[in-house]
Formats: sequence, structure tokens, C-alpha cells
Amino acid sequence: MSRESIYKRYIPDVKHEHKNKPAYWFIFNSDKLLINHKKDNKIPFIKDITILDTSMFCTHYIGTLEDHPCICAEVPPKIVALDGMTFEDLHELYEILDEDLFLLAGRAIQIINWDKNHRYCGKCGTLTENMENEMAKICPECGHICYTRISPAVITAIIKNGKILMAKHSYGLKDRYALVAGFIEAGETLEEGVKREIMEEVGLKVNNIKYFGSQPWPFPNSLMVGFTADYESGEINVDGKEIIDAKWFDVDEVTPMPSKISISSELIEWYIENYS
Ligand SMILES: [Zn+2]
Repeated sequence: MSRESIYKRYIPDVKHEHKNKPAYWFIFNSDKLLINHKKDNKIPFIKDITILDTSMFCTHYIGTLEDHPCICAEVPPKIVALDGMTFEDLHELYEILDEDLFLLAGRAIQIINWDKNHRYCGKCGTLTENMENEMAKICPECGHICYTRISPAVITAIIKNGKILMAKHSYGLKDRYALVAGFIEAGETLEEGVKREIMEEVGLKVNNIKYFGSQPWPFPNSLMVGFTADYESGEINVDGKEIIDAKWFDVDEVTPMPSKISISSELIEWYIENYS
């Protein structure tokens, strides 16, 4: 992984102790992020967001970025952005936002959605409360605690005689081939998940599974864990429903992806660098 960790500049926290300093405000309206087009960094950076509206909910302090407080919140759908600002789809922003701010926006939207989906205790139905010292919600009635929800998923670059396997998904863009990926099931190791997904999706056995790196992916709440693996045996066999086609590509048939932020593009870059 070539990307530098955001934790060199970002310190996560839940207690807001810098209330007199200007803060980065990650404000969402129906999953869309408030962007200030008048500023270079695009994220509203002010001491007091009440100029926008005071009807924010799911407000959470999420720590500091280079000593600047970071706060996330949601506003009701009826709220219209102020002059010079718009609400934008996060998918469209990873070329536009600075990488640290994009990663924090991804953290912010996951926390907001987790908060919205855990307002009531899943065990007894009582209204939950935010815990003081960690990002968690507790039920005042039965004590049940729920933490932010993360779904681990694996993505693998499978290599056979210098070629890489790519598959075309039924839900993906037309004619776009991508690496094999899927969610981890309860009770499974990451490596077992890699083997199962590859067998299910393309009918192949792999070995020499090696960890490559990981990446939080906020669409909606994944942790993508990247691996490389070698082909062991089997013939490509796709189900025709989820996967329409899969084939081996030579290094000169593979083009780097335009965005550098996804682990999938880093795996493709790793392949091109090592097999050219
Ligand atoms: Zn409860």
C-alpha cells in the first residue's frame, strides 16, 4: 500500500474539548455532503454552523485533523444549502476533496447512518443513548451496547502465469471488468472468505494468499481487505447472474484506474508494476 495513513494527522476522539476553535463540519443531507464551493478545501470550516440551520441531528464530534476539530451531523431533507454551497454525492467527491477530508467524510457518513439505525435498542426497543467515552450507544434499560457497524469484505488479485483474473458483474458498468470481491461471512477468516468467494464467483481454487492492505469504504459501511493469490486449479465457471463473465488479462490489456483512492486501483497498479 502506497498511501500514507491519515492517523499521522488525524486523532480520533469523541469528547469535544476545542469548542472555541473553527471546525470542519461534515454535514449530510440524505447521504449527500455539504460542499462550500467558495473555499479550496470545500468542507465548511467555521466555529459556529448555526448560520446554516440549527435543526441538525446525529451530531458527533469525531476528533481533530491537524488540531482542527471535526464534527459530523445530518440535516433534514427540506434544508437548502446556503449560497455558494451544495449537497453532493460522496461518490462524486473523491477526485475533488483532499484525501484526508474524503476519508473523514467517509467516516462521518458511516457514523451518522449508524446513529440513525441504532436509535432504539435492538434487544428491548428502548431509546438508546450515546456513550460518553467511546463511539457507541447504550440502552439505559438493559445495558445492551452497540458499536459502529463495519462489514469486512475481501478483494483479490488472482494471478496465473503472469495474467490477472477480472470478472464482469451484472450490476457493474457495462463492459467493465473488475477484481473478484465479496463480503466475509460470520465465523470465517479473511483467507477462507477469499477462497470461498473465488470458488463461488468464478469456480477456481487459489493458494499463496497474501495480505496486501486495507481500506475503509463507506458505501455503505465496508472495510475492504485486499489480497493477492495464485491460481491453483479449476476452469473459469461463472454463475451468469451475479457474474456475467470472467477472463485472464495480460498486463498490456489492463489499464490503471483513474482514481487512486480505492484498494482495487492499488491492486491493479501493483499488478502492472510487477508483471510489466
Ligand atoms: Zn435494551
